[in-house]
Amino acid sequence: MPSEPEQRPDRRDFMMASMATIGATAALVAHAGSAKAQGPATSPVGPAPATIYTGDTIQGKKVVSALDVNDLAPGQKHLLYFQGVAMPTGQHWYVSVTVARGARPGKRVVLVSGVHGDEMSSIHTVQTVMNQLDPAQMSGTVMAVTDVARPALEGMQRRWPNFGRGHDLIDMNREWPGNENGVTAPSRHAGLLFNRLLRPNADAAIDFHTGTTGFDVTAFNIAAMDVPEIKAMADLYPVGQIFDNHVYPGVLHNAFVDVGIPAFCAEIGAARVLNLGMISLFVEGTMNVLKHHGIVAGPMGRTGKDVAVFIGNSAFPILATQGGLVEHLVKLNDKVEAGQKVAIQRNSFGEVVAEYTSSVAGEVTGQRSDAMSEPGNPLAFILFHKATPDGSETYPE
Ligand SMILES: [Zn+2]
Repeated sequence: MPSEPEQRPDRRDFMMASMATIGATAALVAHAGSAKAQGPATSPVGPAPATIYTGDTIQGKKVVSALDVNDLAPGQKHLLYFQGVAMPTGQHWYVSVTVARGARPGKRVVLVSGVHGDEMSSIHTVQTVMNQLDPAQMSGTVMAVTDVARPALEGMQRRWPNFGRGHDLIDMNREWPGNENGVTAPSRHAGLLFNRLLRPNADAAIDFHTGTTGFDVTAFNIAAMDVPEIKAMADLYPVGQIFDNHVYPGVLHNAFVDVGIPAFCAEIGAARVLNLGMISLFVEGTMNVLKHHGIVAGPMGRTGKDVAVFIGNSAFPILATQGGLVEHLVKLNDKVEAGQKVAIQRNSFGEVVAEYTSSVAGEVTGQRSDAMSEPGNPLAFILFHKATPDGSETYPE
């Protein structure tokens, strides 16, 4: 039910955005060929924008181009579409936003899934948590966005197929906090979502993932355990492993952390499938987090203490050196010793062409599930404790 006063700021906002785009275009021309012209811009950090209804309705849901959850009626659930980046046709990619606004004020937690398009258990986890919430009984607000990389989800693939500058496949979890005037659609989409939807409504955030297609992982969290507010949340999950590492820039949970919002990344098994057993563990942990923040009442469920969680600060990659069929000799979550053989590989004649051992003692946290491998592919990651950590590590979350 958008009123005239609500439409006016949208028109003005659009004009301002157009002017900003013209400015960016001029900057690109001025810096043509320089690295600076294509560098990521720092997202502005300011007060929450007022909610802007575009006036559109899609499948019965109102569309917003900016959201402040405090503008929504308390004690209710709200289903909205957020207007993301424009496509070559001039139409937009919309993402699904569910807000459970509590009857009483309190903390605001943001739950995200679908930053990668092939990670279905992460979406189901967020949906299940939202379906358990009763806003009439809540103090605070939970906002969920389940389909961030829409075009990647349409193909159930990890990366965003982008055509503006030739045919690219872009990993959206390397784009955050995004840039509303960026040169690729995923960068602009990330900027719009981060500035106008995610950051302004988060006192804490969780970004849910799974392994990627062809590579299975255990149930674990990636969390910077040296940050007390992050550790307090990650400890509340009854899952077997925590990867205690800051990982690399560009991932969504680090974009939150960089602006002072405690956040971490949950990993829920294999891509493309629903693992209902693992999902239930992350639902229980997330409900614990909402209780920890005082949003939901009730006793805590099981936590990491109840499952003797294994915490490592490094993930040792075992890479294929040959092509051929891979046979794993250990399973996910198995403990391995330094020097233990974990996989063999055979060529097309059935001859063993490679044997792979772990150089460290730890637990198996990820394994290639595609049986064929070429040289250089990760075959396994061993989570272990490194006495002197090197800092942020690369990991295919
Ligand atoms: Zn992912």
